[in-house]
Amino acid sequence: MINFLPSMRKKIVAGNWKMNLTREAGTILISEVVNMVHDEVNSHVQVVLCMPFPYLGFAKKLFQSRANIAMGAQNCHEKPLGAYTGEVSAPILRSFDVDYVIIGHSERRQYFKESDEQLSEKVQQVLANHMTPIFCCGESLDMRQNGDYIGFVKQQLTKVLFHLSAEDFSKVVIAYEPIWAIGTGITASAEQAQEMHAALRGHIAAHYGATIANRITLLYGGSCNAKNASELFACPDVDGGLIGGASLKSREFVNVCKSLPV
Ligand code: PEP
Repeated sequence: MINFLPSMRKKIVAGNWKMNLTREAGTILISEVVNMVHDEVNSHVQVVLCMPFPYLGFAKKLFQSRANIAMGAQNCHEKPLGAYTGEVSAPILRSFDVDYVIIGHSERRQYFKESDEQLSEKVQQVLANHMTPIFCCGESLDMRQNGDYIGFVKQQLTKVLFHLSAEDFSKVVIAYEPIWAIGTGITASAEQAQEMHAALRGHIAAHYGATIANRITLLYGGSCNAKNASELFACPDVDGGLIGGASLKSREFVNVCKSLPV
């Protein structure tokens, strides 16, 4: 029996704004979050703001060099450059000082038909450009009710991530986001989140060994908000959250950040 140690892991709360907020509202939100994080959030919590591409050109200046606030994008293309009109590559993101990139969000898989092979290339691009991928995985409601949902999510990791070297894999952040909980107001219970997170950590240990499994940050995402975050974040294998709707209001989002024990 392996004993996993939460204290060894980086704690992260990442907000995913999705395709919301125009310039003025987004700028106000950033400024409010930056000030509140500075005043109220433990400096060991890494806060990440994943915003639409146009913000990435100016958002960092608003962070006031706060070490525990990082800038994230929500996607990148799997190729480093070329004739892909409308797309944004990992080298472009890095040149704008992006720190984190969400890869494989279920909305990208569903609406843009992103395949495991593409996601695998995207993860490699993000790593090759010295940014941190936040790799999303999670099962549908049908899979949860009728299938081997744990086996399914383990396979998502195997297919997209397990070809990475141990060194590269150690740099990845994983977000478990059950699709039935995203944007639905239905959240996984703490027991459901812990069950999956523990299973994924065990799966990682079986492939990469316990030391690496111990160090990987596993986030929970899916209707996580200031009311339910404390219970979810108290689970031993939950190291923070990927937050959608609740990241669009500064008070709510910062309260989520404050719910993370460090
Ligand atoms: C998400 O889209 O990553 C997410 C977790 O959304 P929400 O919190 O709104 O369910």
